[in-house]
Formats: sequence, structure tokens, C-alpha cells
Amino acid sequence: MEFDRQALSQAIAFRRALHQAPELSGEEARTAETVAARLHGFAPDQLLTGLGGHGVACIFEGAEPGPSLLLRCELDALPIEEISDAPHRSRILGKGHLCGHDGHSAILTLVASALSQRRPARGRVILLFQPAEETGAGAAAVLADPAFAAIRPDMALSLHNLPGLPLGEASLREGPVNCASRGLRITLSGKTAHASMPQDGLSPMAAMTRLMPALAALGPGGALDESFRLVTITHARLGEPAFGIAPGTGEIWATLRTLRDEAMAALIEEAERLVISEADAAGLGHALAYEDIFTHCENHPAAVALLRSALDAEGIAHRPGEPMYPSEDFGRFASVSRSAMFFLGAGLDHPRLHNPDYDFPDDLIAIGARVFLRAVREALG
Ligand SMILES: [Zn+2]
Ligand SMILES: [Zn+2]
Repeated sequence: MEFDRQALSQAIAFRRALHQAPELSGEEARTAETVAARLHGFAPDQLLTGLGGHGVACIFEGAEPGPSLLLRCELDALPIEEISDAPHRSRILGKGHLCGHDGHSAILTLVASALSQRRPARGRVILLFQPAEETGAGAAAVLADPAFAAIRPDMALSLHNLPGLPLGEASLREGPVNCASRGLRITLSGKTAHASMPQDGLSPMAAMTRLMPALAALGPGGALDESFRLVTITHARLGEPAFGIAPGTGEIWATLRTLRDEAMAALIEEAERLVISEADAAGLGHALAYEDIFTHCENHPAAVALLRSALDAEGIAHRPGEPMYPSEDFGRFASVSRSAMFFLGAGLDHPRLHNPDYDFPDDLIAIGARVFLRAVREALG
């Protein structure tokens, strides 16, 4: 698969334009507008906006009936200040496209340009620009959107760039590829008092200092196998920043992580039991809430076979690779279709994802688009 030079240079320019104007998860209104305007130029058969928030779907129909294939990228950036001298660096203070979602979006616009020249022979291609990947909310919201029911795909594919893997090489495996994870927010409540008379109040301090290492001990991490469990304490707060008040409330944030959803259920149960027993023993009230919920990402053999065949046809070296410690909300698509995600190397020494000096390598735009377009042609002609 080849793309003409103009289409490729436009995709690169588009990537850099997105890079300059990053928006956070759930706030991608302008990004979605920019994407929809670009896609409109490719005269798709349908262009849906406002999917699950700011999601955009661009649809190309084949002349004959057949299966539908969804290709998914993400729209959101991160609340991290970018460190860069590049002319296309972020113009928004404290926000940056530091996961490469600008690049993934550019890849799908390049695929759209090729499909506008030649539609699939049969079935349907759905190019989904998904919002709010970083919080784990976007895929679920898109899937729950009634407008999505009408375009529910038979198969869904996605890619993520990956620093640490040689530039332009791929990693693809069957089974679990990304961990299940969720944020547990624990609130402990006692009673505030004057700092001179703490005995009149009930501070959660002692319970918090016992709970944090005990929670961490539930998930010591290690190799990514079926028994893998990791609990990371990410934030804690006791009372208010004041010298005159003995604290009456405390909060602990912990991220729970396992390879599969089944192991997550067991970890949740143990973590909750621990919190309840510490709170009860100290006479404290407790509340538990979950945020940033990611199911594990499971690659279906049929979708992997299609990607593998596309990678081989494009002469792109690939290896099975290991499952990833981070989570990815693409896993949700496994609930409605056969789905698979592959990773495209961003270079061995490339700055890591979510680092302030990360920037998506433009060389991957053509490579990613070649793999996706080849998969489309193999599946739908
Ligand atoms: Zn990310
Ligand atoms: Zn990402």
C-alpha cells in the first residue's frame, strides 16, 4: 500500500496541528471539530459526531453487503506540560499530546483519504475517533451511545505507538495485551477538633498509616502472569493544610491492576475488606468509590490473524511481545466485536509515553495507515 506524497504530507501537517492544540479527556470539542472538518473533505457516506461525548465516526460503504470493520483512534491529550523546542509544540499551558493520539488520528485521516479514492468492495469501514481514552471513560460511552448501535462492527482494530520497540516494527499477540485497572478512592471520616485538644476529635491518621502499606502489600507487582497484582498508592490527603485543626477526614487513592478482569474482582474484594476492617476498628466512617475503570484488553485470534496477515503483506517485522502493564480502554470493544490491538515501535530510545519530552514520530503515520488499509483490503476488498 502506498499513499501519494500530498496525502501523506497533509496527514503529517494535520498531526502537528492537533499537537499544538491538545484537549483533555471529555473536553475534546475543538479537536473533534477539526477532525470532522478534515474528514468531511473526504466525502464519506456518513459522518457521525457527538458519539459518547466528542467522538466522531467516518463511514465508507462498500457496493456489496458484507462485514463491517472498525478502526479506532483516540482524540484526547494529557494534563502534562510538554517540554519541546519543536515548532509544533503545545500552545496550551499544562496540556500536551504526550501519548501520540495526535499521530493515531492522523493515521486514520490518511486511511480516510485512501478510502475516499477507492471504497471497500463490500461491507463497511468505520473510522472511529474516540474521546476520553486516558480516563477509561470514552470507549464505554461510545459503546453505550444509541447512535453506535446502528454501526456496531463485526471486527474492531486499533494500534498504539510504543517507545522501546524499534521504530516501525510491530508487536502483536493473542490473548491479554493490556491490564485491567481501576482507581479506588477511599474516604475515611472521623471528627475534627481543635489542634490543642485532638482527644476531642477522631483522626483517621493512624488508620491511614496502617492502610497504605497494607493495601500496597495486596499487590506487590512482579511478572505479568495470571497471579499478577499491583496496588499503587497514588495520592493521600489528611485533613486540611492548617495548624489549628486536628483532622477529621482522610482520603487515599489507590490504583489496582491485574492481568485479567477475573483477578481484578478478587483483588477488589480483598482491598474493600481491608478498608472496612481498619475503619471499623478505628470507629471511622468509610466510603469507597471507583474511577478510571479499565477492563483488560483481550485480542481475539481472528482479529489478530487479519492484522498479522496485513503486517506480513506490508513487510513489517513483528514479534509476539509481552502484555503491557498499562491499561487501554480499547478492551471494551471486545464486548461487541472480535477485536485486536497491535503496537507500533516508536524507537528504542524514544521518550516514553506520558513523559514531558515525548512526541509522536511522524514516520509512523504512513506505516500505521499501510497496515490498516491492507487489513481493510484483505477483509473487504
Ligand atoms: Zn496515554
Ligand atoms: Zn494512548
